[in-house]
Amino acid sequence: MKADAAILGGGLAGLTAAIILQRSGYQTILVEKKVYPFHKVCGEYLSLESEPLLRWLGIPTRQMDLPVLRKLRITEPSGLSFQGNLPLGGIGISRYLLDYELKKILEKEGGLVLDGTSATGITQTEEGIEIRTNHPQYDRFGVRLALGAFGRNKPGFLQEEDRQRSGFIGVKRHVKADIPADRIELHHFPGGYCGISAIENGAYCLCYLLDEGISKEQKGNLEEIERRYLFQNPVLARYLAEFEPLTGRVSTAGVMFRPRPLSRDGLLFLGDSAGMIPPLAGNGMSMALHSAVLAAEISGLYLSGQITLKQWAKDYEKQWKSAFSIRLRMAGNLQHIMENPNFTRLTLRSFRLFPALFSLSARLTHGSNIPLPGSTAKTGNK
Ligand SMILES: Cc1cc2nc3c(=O)[nH]c(=O)nc-3n(C[C@H](O)[C@H](O)[C@H](O)COP(=O)(O)OP(=O)(O)OC[C@H]3O[C@@H](n4cnc5c(N)ncnc54)[C@H](O)[C@@H]3O)c2cc1C
Repeated sequence: MKADAAILGGGLAGLTAAIILQRSGYQTILVEKKVYPFHKVCGEYLSLESEPLLRWLGIPTRQMDLPVLRKLRITEPSGLSFQGNLPLGGIGISRYLLDYELKKILEKEGGLVLDGTSATGITQTEEGIEIRTNHPQYDRFGVRLALGAFGRNKPGFLQEEDRQRSGFIGVKRHVKADIPADRIELHHFPGGYCGISAIENGAYCLCYLLDEGISKEQKGNLEEIERRYLFQNPVLARYLAEFEPLTGRVSTAGVMFRPRPLSRDGLLFLGDSAGMIPPLAGNGMSMALHSAVLAAEISGLYLSGQITLKQWAKDYEKQWKSAFSIRLRMAGNLQHIMENPNFTRLTLRSFRLFPALFSLSARLTHGSNIPLPGSTAKTGNK
């Protein structure tokens, strides 16, 4: 098969970019390390700015009977709490379902999905890009362009990870719960915070972010970590003791919120590979989807000969920064606050006194509806 584009990494960003390019008439190959469907660490609260795009992609969100989340409750170990209405709100949908549905759409539209396959190297050539994988048949193939959507942990061949600094680990499982289906809850505990909200089929996603130092200290024993740290918040202590697990835990290490390069060696990075927003903003999936639209649209301009490779990377960088810089800064500040118990208490007290402050923070960490493909591509030189 002669392909135009390779998308490396098949999470939300990669799958979305692949569908857009395939639908625009460019033969696309998507390489995903794991085999669909699979569980992934994520709070599974998808802010509503993504809904029109999901419908455009072919996910019938309104017919899927998904919970709509309009309320937020925050607590911290001393018992202090805040409840408010989310200015935008979100839907609850598992990554097991969402990523799998997108993969099926891509295949239906003629995209080639190589799941269970790792990208192991790339080389820029005169004709484009050579991709190397561990697939028995597609171990080496050439394409005109490639997008890197590896998620937060880029593969070793890119030699970018800065593992000197400690980050966070993320842990998630699905549970049966008795909390209102229209409410997302965020519970603070020493060393992290835990979100819980409804997803499809009456299940709930319970997902927490924890200081990696604590995890190392406790030798990664998650049951012990939960007992020692999460149980310090009485709300979480009840939930963890009473809610019946529906799945085992999945976890991920190396979660960091730092600026990252947006392109390299003929690759544009999208989704978490380009930069990750702290999960408390509930906006990472929407950013992944939005960055995929930007990258795919600009890639379409390159593939149709309207811009050069140099301009491809430059325009993407410009559009990415204009779309995400403010919300990344705002969410980074909120993350620092949540890392300090005194600041957390102060913030919750301020939100209780001035609920408008909460609405403003929520607005500044989100965008408006993601532009649909066909409405974004413009070059910086025009
Ligand atoms: C604890 C936690 C809670 C979160 N909660 C929320 C939330 O409630 N709402 C929200 O909007 N966001 C949330 N996020 C953020 C959200 O999960 C991410 O922003 C989103 O998944 C990014 O999508 P992506 O496509 O960039 O990456 P991913 O979804 O991580 O996909 C990357 C894919 O690339 C594959 N891959 C990696 N290396 C290779 C390789 N060498 N070859 C082939 N494939 C490869 C991986 O297997 C993976 O499937 C949370 C994140 C964390 C850590």
